[in-house]
Amino acid sequence: MISAWASVPVGIPRELAEERAAAVSDLRYEITFDLTQRKDSAPGTETLRFKLSKDGPLLLDFRGDNPRDLIINRQPVAVVAENGHIILPASALHIGDNMLSLKFDAPVGPSGKAITRFEDKEDGAEYFYTLFVPMDASAAFPCFDQPDLKGRFTLSVTSLANDSIISNAPKAWDGRASRSSTTGFRETEPISTYLFAFAAGPFRPVHHVFGLPDVYVRRSQQSRAEAEIPAVQQITADGIKFFSSYFGQPFPFHKYDMLLIPGFPFGGMEHAGATFLNEDSVLFRSAPTDDDRFGRMTLCLHELAHQWFGDLTTMKWFDDLWLKEGFAQYMAYRALAELKPEQNVWAHFYQQIKPAAYGIDVTAGTTPIYQNIANLKDAKSAYGAIVYSKAPALLKQLSYLIGDNHFRDGLRLYLADHLYGNAQWGDLVYSFERASGQDLKPWASAWITRRGMPEIRTQWECDGNGKLANLTLTQKNVLDEKGTWPLATQVLLGYDNTAAIRLRATLNGQTAVVSEAAGKACPAYIFANDEDNAYGLFVLDDKSREYIRRHIGQVSDVFERTLLWGALWDSVRAAEMSPADYLEATLRELPKETNETLVRSLGARSAVALHDYLSETAQQNWAPKFEDLAVAKMADSPDKGLRILWFRTLLSLATTEASLKPIEKLLEGELKIPDVELRSLDRWRMVSVLLALKAPEAESLYATESKRDSSGIGPKYAYVAGAAKPDAATKQHYFDDYMNNAARQEDWVQASLGDFNAWSASALTAPYLKPSLEALPRVKQERKIFFTLAWLNAFIGGQHSAESDRLVHNWLASAQIDADLKLKVLQVVDDLDRTVKIRAKFAQ
Ligand SMILES: [Zn+2]
Repeated sequence: MISAWASVPVGIPRELAEERAAAVSDLRYEITFDLTQRKDSAPGTETLRFKLSKDGPLLLDFRGDNPRDLIINRQPVAVVAENGHIILPASALHIGDNMLSLKFDAPVGPSGKAITRFEDKEDGAEYFYTLFVPMDASAAFPCFDQPDLKGRFTLSVTSLANDSIISNAPKAWDGRASRSSTTGFRETEPISTYLFAFAAGPFRPVHHVFGLPDVYVRRSQQSRAEAEIPAVQQITADGIKFFSSYFGQPFPFHKYDMLLIPGFPFGGMEHAGATFLNEDSVLFRSAPTDDDRFGRMTLCLHELAHQWFGDLTTMKWFDDLWLKEGFAQYMAYRALAELKPEQNVWAHFYQQIKPAAYGIDVTAGTTPIYQNIANLKDAKSAYGAIVYSKAPALLKQLSYLIGDNHFRDGLRLYLADHLYGNAQWGDLVYSFERASGQDLKPWASAWITRRGMPEIRTQWECDGNGKLANLTLTQKNVLDEKGTWPLATQVLLGYDNTAAIRLRATLNGQTAVVSEAAGKACPAYIFANDEDNAYGLFVLDDKSREYIRRHIGQVSDVFERTLLWGALWDSVRAAEMSPADYLEATLRELPKETNETLVRSLGARSAVALHDYLSETAQQNWAPKFEDLAVAKMADSPDKGLRILWFRTLLSLATTEASLKPIEKLLEGELKIPDVELRSLDRWRMVSVLLALKAPEAESLYATESKRDSSGIGPKYAYVAGAAKPDAATKQHYFDDYMNNAARQEDWVQASLGDFNAWSASALTAPYLKPSLEALPRVKQERKIFFTLAWLNAFIGGQHSAESDRLVHNWLASAQIDADLKLKVLQVVDDLDRTVKIRAKFAQ
């Protein structure tokens, strides 16, 4: 309906979506695409059937090219297109059944187009794929591009004769001509436009076994894929069994395929019945560790969980994006906790999920997990850690609060009420209330609609008889805004030689006395978020922090040790503990640590402390100790995964000239890591580090490696590593390329941002800080959903000085940019604020 619109709006405002959802129903799309022209557009045809309950006119969304030959209810109608919409005139429509048909062209290109074209440099084959989330379906074909107007799609695609074509539904028929072939698909179940997808090219199924989902890979990668795919199929098959039973709903679509896409802009996309996965997330380009395989399982299960959460039951509008992302993320871990109980799943969850959420939620740029999206064109901004990390963390808290069984029953009710339909967060809370018999509205309104999080501190005293006299939890709002959060947590009383005591505590206001604690033996330390059920910044009291810093090596439980290391690091980030103290404890304990995930995170935090937080003198003093440790452990760790991790840790913390020798030797084959075959990406990472740190041979090693890597992906890695060259001309060249080279693939740019902004190059990259901020409106408009944050993290994260920090804040104060972009800058600059604060306090 456009009756209420003075002019045709840009994008899809919420009001337009609401009007259309109220008037349009029973949507059926019949669409054809012809990819045989292999140029920058694909001709398409469409027949659209729908019911109208109100008189027109009506806006159909389309941002592609040349809409033509429009026929509405058997009458030819002139195409009137404006601001990304085709106006369907009232005179041509009527209440009841309507049918229209038209022709159009879908733009095709290597990046930034409705259909992405990828050329495989290894065999010259061409691949095409779509990625429409959140509202790019209308960039490819005319549609009502909003999640709550679900349609049934019948697709046919014509491509070259040897191509496979994969889409949401099973194949219905094949037609062959001399040089081309056409594949027709069965009609889909009702799905949202952002979940409709297809891909074409010489994809081949690998390890095809009846009863297991098919995984398609491009022809040139078949042999590389043989060894990796069975694990992916097995976890997916196990996941389908688990989710079907946990959700009380069978798999909701007719089949489930996975397709590995090279250069895919994120880990995966859960198209109904046909998940697209980033090829590099499945077929590892560097020697893999158990941690990497764990990450791959969570990726597969995340996309699989979406088939129920997101695809079967879909959020009504993208302001509830967290409904699907929070659940997919949480359910991936929930499933793994059942399927792989030996894997410390919740310690992984804490390490992978929590830091990103806390990192954003303590900043002035944070948002509630429910994010008001006035227009779908701004939906990209909803993507980020609040949705992917805070939301799953809250679901873990909710499950702890109401109990696992009530949680599961609530989900079953929610899905059963909205099969193939749409829902909002209120529907979900209502389901949990029915299942648990609890009033959850206060909980929901605090956690879902309000931004920020609590900082929780612990006060406790022991009496003269060695007993705990009292224990109190107090919360404050980290943002100094109004409001507290209801939460339930498990408090750990830790002791020197006896077993820990664990107490459940609830906090429904500012302060809670944990009365059960009184009279227990006086503990050596207290940690108030044991097992990580609650969400908040749990600050160690001084006595506990001191004890943990000295004795953390004695904590034998991996999960607990992981949480305590995290709490110490939180103290560093809050400038309450010196980075040198953290490094000292790490250097003492790390040599004994055998848990891969902990080795990885301790190594990464040490690199941040070394490169961002220390004075140059302290850096030169501390770095060799860590470098030497890494070189030694890379050689003599008992476990292969640990040796690989230590190799990566060496690369991330390399600082001094002395550390470059072993890296050069590894690259030249004079030094080997026992039983580890380094892969192309490992080699290129070494080249990057050597370039960034000005190793004398770096330029010639770069040239040698460029010749040596003859794989199709070699040029991409050479481009990425080249960004690390520490000279002004290179930085200028790359920045110009980012801004002005439309043919440059987006994944190349994104992958090179970190090398461009290497920690050691901050003086060279500082001149690009302001231009990178000024580019934000363009970046938001032209790039895929995760790019903006990657851009900001790289350019702001590459700086460590008070001047740079001031530059960002001054720029923000006067910038005329969208509110969502301002928030993103505030989210990212918080880290730099902290770096400046920590350096001022400890790096003098
Ligand atoms: Zn997802």
